[in-house]
Amino acid sequence: MLYIVATPIGNLEDITLRAVSVLTNADLILAEDTRVTRVLLDRYNIKKELLSYHEHSGLKKLEKVVKMLKEGKNLALVSDAGTPGISDPGGFLVSEALKAVPDLKVVPIPGANVAITALSVSGFPADKFVFLGFPPHKKGRQTFFKRIGDIEETVVFYESKHRILKALEELRELSMLNDRPIMVARELTKQFETIYRGTIGETLDQLNKTKVLGEFVVVIRAK
Ligand code: SAM
Repeated sequence: MLYIVATPIGNLEDITLRAVSVLTNADLILAEDTRVTRVLLDRYNIKKELLSYHEHSGLKKLEKVVKMLKEGKNLALVSDAGTPGISDPGGFLVSEALKAVPDLKVVPIPGANVAITALSVSGFPADKFVFLGFPPHKKGRQTFFKRIGDIEETVVFYESKHRILKALEELRELSMLNDRPIMVARELTKQFETIYRGTIGETLDQLNKTKVLGEFVVVIRAK
């Protein structure tokens, strides 16, 4: 079996009992960054072998994983935060593992996800929403933001601390978004959790007054 296990997005207590049990009983845990996962495992006293598996893991690593799955081993995949495969490595492993072992049981262990957590406190319509992942760094970035102006539903995207101010400035340039309420959430579930609400200009002003540190997610209200 291949278990796809969601882990906390910051607060180590945000993990399900089932996730702890699956991680405890797996033969091996595949982790995006073994140092990050080790902190979580230590918190729950799980002494388990970890194998790093990330977007740059080559064919050899994949073959090793597939061999273990063929031998009937129970493997658990985790990423650094949240649900594997959502804007992080994971999806590729699932698709390749299924190609190699068509009758493989891939079992989801649901839990935290940044986009859903942010939406839950946004107060914006979320019966339908559009999740756009990360904006591209260079090529296609302008088109990414322009496209948001055309979307009717609430939009969610992730951005790093290095580009969050730039992203908000780029959004502010779009006249069709001028008065749309947005929410920028920083460090959700962590010690310095902060939620900025207002127009794009207002949230930009608030952020400009702080040290821009941590992890960010942006939610833009439906039209
Ligand atoms: N797989 C994860 C999920 O299920 O949401 C997303 C992984 S993605 C690589 C990580 C990005 O999510 C960060 O760069 C940041 O933009 C956002 N993020 C992660 N943790 C966050 C947090 N605690 N608060 C706000 N944004 C966060």
